[in-house]
Amino acid sequence: MKIVSLPILLFSLAFTVVSCDHDKDANQPKVQIPASIAPFATPKPQLPPDSGPPPAFDSARAMQYVKEIVAFGPRPIGSANHKKVEDYLLAHLKGDEVENDVFTADTPEGKLPVHNIVARFPGTKDGIIIIASHYDTNYPLRGTSFVGANDGGSSSALLLEFANQLRGKPRPGYSIWLVWDDAEEAIKPDGSGGLRQEMPFEKDSLYGITHLAEKWQADGTLKRIRAFLLADMVGDADLNIEHDSNSTPWLEAVVYEAATRLGYQSHFFARTMTVSDDHLPFLKREVPSADFIDFDYGYNDVFWHTTQDTVDKLSPKSLGIVGATMLETINILDKMDPLPPK
Ligand SMILES: [Zn+2]
Repeated sequence: MKIVSLPILLFSLAFTVVSCDHDKDANQPKVQIPASIAPFATPKPQLPPDSGPPPAFDSARAMQYVKEIVAFGPRPIGSANHKKVEDYLLAHLKGDEVENDVFTADTPEGKLPVHNIVARFPGTKDGIIIIASHYDTNYPLRGTSFVGANDGGSSSALLLEFANQLRGKPRPGYSIWLVWDDAEEAIKPDGSGGLRQEMPFEKDSLYGITHLAEKWQADGTLKRIRAFLLADMVGDADLNIEHDSNSTPWLEAVVYEAATRLGYQSHFFARTMTVSDDHLPFLKREVPSADFIDFDYGYNDVFWHTTQDTVDKLSPKSLGIVGATMLETINILDKMDPLPPK
């Protein structure tokens, strides 16, 4: 993923604080919070009442999955480790309705194999909610010990635990399709990981999820998708999920409501960013989408796309917060009839 633009608003906010320090008028508020960094202040959609117990999510088991995925080592596309992780994911989905979406991507490094894995869990209501996570590790860092514990590992493990919660009888709501998408990461250096940019992220990334969006548009599936929820970098022990200005505003409001109902709102939306990630191909096709991403991974995001992205930086508690909030978001969506348009 990539941040397209860091929020200018925050910069101007910081400037406001400095200038206010010299302002002797104590009656004036020190800082004006712009409405755009307070998403919960935007018009809320009609929401159903809070009902039912909080969603079940086994965060210790999710953390164990992160450790097991990371233990395979770096898993860039086309590698032997990547194949081992494919097999690992599929072994955990044995008996579930699974689709393997396998194709060859034309990349700036030539033709490379891509393998999306989709697990479908039926609901009683017409329509589908997608929960997606990429599982490949950064390709330009393939010669290093980069294992992407948070970047690709945490969210892939999260989805495995969702599968445990969803398996069994049809859920009383929308069908849920879990998508472990592949080749999210850029193939040529995109300016991250301490490497000089050779190609913009936008032109050389999101291979797997773009393929699925195109395929589902062609076969009519896309029309049945009510929402696309994305998880990326969700395991940081110091969890701060961003408010993403690319994501669909009403869906972000539902996410914040879900977090608030569970008492987790302090981990959500303290700042606004513009994030380019796996949700873009679905946003482009008018599917309401929200990215659950924490782009504050170590001070100033210092662990992102470095060999320091290791399991010791993560916490099962964070996986539990994101897991329960995603499931609560879906519980709310199930009861919103009709859902707002994009
Ligand atoms: Zn990455």
